Amino acid sequence: MDLTLSPRERELKARAKAFAETWLFPQEERLEDEGHLPAELRDRLRRAVVEAGFNAINHKPEVGGQGFSFLEQAVVNEELGKATGALWAVVWHPALPLKDGTPQQIERYLRPACLGQRRACFAITERNAGSDPSLVETRADYRDGRYYLTGEKWFVTSGDVCDFILVHALVDGDPRKPTVFIVDKALPGVREGRHPKFMHTYVFGHPEFHFDRVELGPEQVLGEVGQGFELTKDWFVEARLQIAANCVGGATRALETANAWAESRIQFGRPIRDFQAVEFMLADSAVEIMAAKSLLYRCAAEIDAGLDRKLVHARASALKLHCSEMAGRVADRAVQILGGRGYMRENPVERLYRDLRVDRIWEGTSEIQRSIVGGQIRKRGLGVYTGW
Ligand SMILES: Cc1cc2nc3c(=O)[nH]c(=O)nc-3n(C[C@H](O)[C@H](O)[C@H](O)COP(=O)(O)OP(=O)(O)OC[C@H]3O[C@@H](n4cnc5c(N)ncnc54)[C@H](O)[C@@H]3O)c2cc1C
Repeated sequence: MDLTLSPRERELKARAKAFAETWLFPQEERLEDEGHLPAELRDRLRRAVVEAGFNAINHKPEVGGQGFSFLEQAVVNEELGKATGALWAVVWHPALPLKDGTPQQIERYLRPACLGQRRACFAITERNAGSDPSLVETRADYRDGRYYLTGEKWFVTSGDVCDFILVHALVDGDPRKPTVFIVDKALPGVREGRHPKFMHTYVFGHPEFHFDRVELGPEQVLGEVGQGFELTKDWFVEARLQIAANCVGGATRALETANAWAESRIQFGRPIRDFQAVEFMLADSAVEIMAAKSLLYRCAAEIDAGLDRKLVHARASALKLHCSEMAGRVADRAVQILGGRGYMRENPVERLYRDLRVDRIWEGTSEIQRSIVGGQIRKRGLGVYTGW
């Protein structure tokens, strides 16, 4: 078994590291202080993403993406995940289910989204539908060949900067017809609602959206009517892998910061790393990152090798659960090692501590990942997780 990264994977990782340090890290404190980045800077970042060749790393070159393998995406997302304020989100990944669009949808939405000319967001969650998306109430009523979309969506990440939304809705309110619609934000009846503030400072917002009888043609259905859950599942798998990679990166930066501080901070006449209480925290974090990273690379490589789709889903849940929980523990220890400075917003470990918290919540909470893992064990046996 060869677990070394290939020269290309190492080159991509180095390129992503340089990109994060040149373009993302310098924006962190400004973003934290001001809560957003000016449009002109966002535009410069957008051009830098294209120049660095990191636009749409998850889509094929034929549609304007980079066609990276899952392992290549993992090493890139790991490096980008070191940036605080979720600045990794300036490097866009148009939602994977768009690849299942018709040729017209690909030309109108996916290709320009890959090139950075348009931006998508994905809206599933509602006031009464979170962990259980079958409770979605947004409906698309079919009349005389047209759909009329009505409902509201919550927590729509990047909804403020996107120009089209993938909306998960029930055709005619029928739970047997969950369907994803591509909805242009400029259409009459689409309204951006509240912009709540969250624990983290995120480079973009997570606004609410209201849809009031938004008229849509059949060409706005992504995939088939009734296929909504299948498409949404693809999105979850991809998003969970990205979160896992971002978490490994964020945890690594937190530990690097804590390690450097433990070396230079003198108390009681010696570096604080000389106190075993501190050294053990560094050791625990290093071991946890090593384990999470091994799991991440292995799962990504297996997907690239053609792992069965059901197993991909099963493993993505375990990976997201493990990496997000690990990152929370590592960031917490890093804050502790930095003491009072670890509690200052100007310090990356404080920001990482807040940023990484949501990774145990979005794209399926840790409890939901555990129930997926538990369900897989019941259905397929422990071997899915332990027999490899
Ligand atoms: C910053 C942010 C950005 C987001 N971005 C998006 C986005 O772009 N698009 C989108 O559609 N959604 C988005 N979400 C929504 C996110 O996916 C949901 O918050 C998440 O799935 C949990 O749903 P909920 O908040 O309604 O919690 P609930 O489902 O109400 O859960 C509350 C608690 O109950 C637990 N729980 C629920 N069911 C079970 C169960 N069966 N077993 C055990 N425990 C259970 C949960 O784990 C949790 O601890 C975002 C959320 C946040 C915070």
